[in-house]
Amino acid sequence: MSTNPLPLIYDLSLEDLTQTLQTWGEPAYRALQIWQGLYIQLWNTPEQFTNLPLPLRDRLATSFRFSGLTPGAVLQSSDGETIKTLLTLHDGRAIEAVLMRYDERNTLCISSQAGCAMGCVFCATGQMGFKRHLTSGEIVEQVLYYARKLKQTDERVTNIVLMGMGEPFHNYEATIAAIDRLNHPQGANLGERRFTISTVGLIPFIQRFASEKRQINLAISLHAATDEERSNLLPVNKRYPISELLIACRDYVEQTGRRITFEWALINGVNDTPETAHQLANLLKGLLCHVNVIPLNPTQKFAGQATTRTRAEAFKTILEKSGIPCTIRIRRGIDIQAGCGQLATDANQSNPVL
Ligand code: SF4
Repeated sequence: MSTNPLPLIYDLSLEDLTQTLQTWGEPAYRALQIWQGLYIQLWNTPEQFTNLPLPLRDRLATSFRFSGLTPGAVLQSSDGETIKTLLTLHDGRAIEAVLMRYDERNTLCISSQAGCAMGCVFCATGQMGFKRHLTSGEIVEQVLYYARKLKQTDERVTNIVLMGMGEPFHNYEATIAAIDRLNHPQGANLGERRFTISTVGLIPFIQRFASEKRQINLAISLHAATDEERSNLLPVNKRYPISELLIACRDYVEQTGRRITFEWALINGVNDTPETAHQLANLLKGLLCHVNVIPLNPTQKFAGQATTRTRAEAFKTILEKSGIPCTIRIRRGIDIQAGCGQLATDANQSNPVL
């Protein structure tokens, strides 16, 4: 474990890298060579940069870290479609990142924080508390890690969801900087529309995000249709109640013209009743949106149970009859605790989850 490490190279934008190279007296095109080595060739050791003069390679090696994440346990679901990797940060904190391979996509679910401060009661990450923000480079490197793995079979990362550990808007700058870095046309060139940010509803950041008019998809974890119920599940609702949240959502759609996705974990007997479905339909009336419902994934410290298929279908039918598109998501990777809300680990625990 290193407490005072070298700067992580993935924390630099191309402009930062160009400036650094300038101060070293190197021509600007060297920065682009390094950038393309990192984000197109997916190199992760200075020795791989054989297109650079040896002294420059040496200087890179003594100035930057090329790895901020150490892969640990890798778990694969029984259907082989979901792979979860434990990644340890330089300070010993740990995060998880998940690869889901289905529908001809390679979707990554990555983390923006170690732990989470939001405390959603059904979420294993929330149950472990907040440890720290990730840097933009640590967010970027989760994608590069899986991109390297997929490259071995001539495959690519196709979609990225910020739905792993942490609340991405609580770490807004680093999250957006990471997406910008991966979106850069001279590097990884992953289009903004391939990314989805999922938030519990931090209104000031939804407003900021709307004003930036990005093409990144926005998902809101809603889960309840009344403030009383939502505050029980998501403590953040006490600060940002549903009525204010939905005003921010409507403003977002108006400013960007983009559809919002609402996430809804169906908990048996709690938020899966026909009455709740009607309340939700009323709340979302006229809003350009889509609702994703998913039967709750189990976690150790929450007693709620997943809804049944029949109840999920009935919930969906009510929404659709009200003109609100709805999809029932299939639970994936539950056998390896890689489903939504199941990511939790702390390398400092004596009994880590993995
Ligand atoms: S659901 Fe998301 S925001 Fe809520 S505690 Fe879990 S990681 Fe944090």
